[in-house]
Amino acid sequence: MSDTIAPPLDVVIPPGNVRCDACPVMCNIRPGLTGACDRYANAAGELVRVDPLVLLDRVIGQGGALVTFQGDAAWDGRIVRGADTFITAIGAGTTYPDYKPAPFIVSTEVDGVDMVTVVTEGIFSYCGVKVKIDTDRHLGAERSVIRAQGEPVGHVTTAEYGSQMLSLGGVGHLTGGGKKEGRVTCETLMDLSNGKPVQLTIDDGATVIVQAGHAPVVNGVREDRMRVGCGSATIGIFAPQWLGKVDEVVVVDDHITGVLSEHQAGKLLDIPPTGIRMRGRRSTPGRYFQVAHPGTGWGGTDITDPLSILDPFDAKHGRPGLRMLMVSTTGEHSAYYELDEALRPVAMPLPPVVQDSVARISENCEPALCSVLFIAGAGGSLRAGVTDNPVRLTRAVATGVTRLTSGGAPVYLWPGGGITFMVDVTKLPENAFGYVPTPALVAPIEFTMPLADYKAMGGYMDHVRPLASLDPNAPHRRVTGAAENPWPWAPL
Ligand code: SF4
Repeated sequence: MSDTIAPPLDVVIPPGNVRCDACPVMCNIRPGLTGACDRYANAAGELVRVDPLVLLDRVIGQGGALVTFQGDAAWDGRIVRGADTFITAIGAGTTYPDYKPAPFIVSTEVDGVDMVTVVTEGIFSYCGVKVKIDTDRHLGAERSVIRAQGEPVGHVTTAEYGSQMLSLGGVGHLTGGGKKEGRVTCETLMDLSNGKPVQLTIDDGATVIVQAGHAPVVNGVREDRMRVGCGSATIGIFAPQWLGKVDEVVVVDDHITGVLSEHQAGKLLDIPPTGIRMRGRRSTPGRYFQVAHPGTGWGGTDITDPLSILDPFDAKHGRPGLRMLMVSTTGEHSAYYELDEALRPVAMPLPPVVQDSVARISENCEPALCSVLFIAGAGGSLRAGVTDNPVRLTRAVATGVTRLTSGGAPVYLWPGGGITFMVDVTKLPENAFGYVPTPALVAPIEFTMPLADYKAMGGYMDHVRPLASLDPNAPHRRVTGAAENPWPWAPL
């Protein structure tokens, strides 16, 4: 990130320079150079958007046939093919200050209905990313501070089923801390949103390399598998497969460790008591909490020796020769024991049938991935670029009259007030996100609706232009829309 300091507005801009007004920084850009965000440049005295405008082409899987740009017909000079092309906000430019209409307000006919898409690159001070990391390993306690380049950029939130959630960014880190904290937070959010790997360090916890759509790397070790379930669920799933092959199974889990002989699944299979005695806090039969401390060992605990979570067997039910499997929730760790005459577990090689059951646990684990959702609230200047009565846009989005997309990708819209949305960053074309050094993220956002509704909400009708009228010589980049994404022009 560059660190341009813009001159005050009353300073006369030297001849040949241009002042960019696409964000509050108001860069004074010399000929041939770019502004502080590298998004705008001075091209022979003209302010230009550096990145090409991204156009999406419709593909099979979005309800239409695969579309080639020119097809069989001779090229007529247009860069769009009506409803088979969608203009994204990537490279479109920014609405700033508030009253300027969005950079592109384009219309086209879709299935006999005149539609309009309003396209802008939103500047988001109120934004962040939610990260889901598939791992059993303990990354850090809830509320622990997460750092990038030594700066606080977020915190650990809840552990979900086989995943640890992180919350990064937000206006508090972007604007509420020091200048470096804001800059690093912005850079972290942008890199994660653009699918780049980012190293995060959690206070009193792990160091994790996070990259959307890739396996997490925890303390230098690539995570392979996501747990099949908690310890209790694993018992429930696999109990019949252990019947007759072992007498006892302990599935070690930092949250809920399962014990076959005590578990309801074991009771239903008439598995007799084994005299096993667990450490930790017994919740319900066969389910134990806090058998060890959180860590990066067996099942997200800190143990390396599974026997450390057992007390001596009860002689009332224990017997020499009793067979016991101890396994983690991913099958990554496993050990097999038989009790000796003193009812002490003696480690032995896993019998083949027991090995098969461990392999079945592993087989049922999904690949561990990092998921990154960008979250932002669309505020004043962005909405004012769509209509002169912004609350009507808010209501139209909330009621579904207007479809909101980000780089052509579907978003999840939060209920309640405002326009707060989340989008899976892997569903956007590459390098869809930028920044401005205020600091804030720049993200593509498109509003699509029937033209009549746009007019009714107070849209900038005199700025509506046919999609087909886009200048074919203007820099643009064509990408095929992700097949799993719904086609943005599809009927609302
Ligand atoms: S930071 Fe970028 S968008 Fe903002 S004024 Fe400078 S060149 Fe324009």
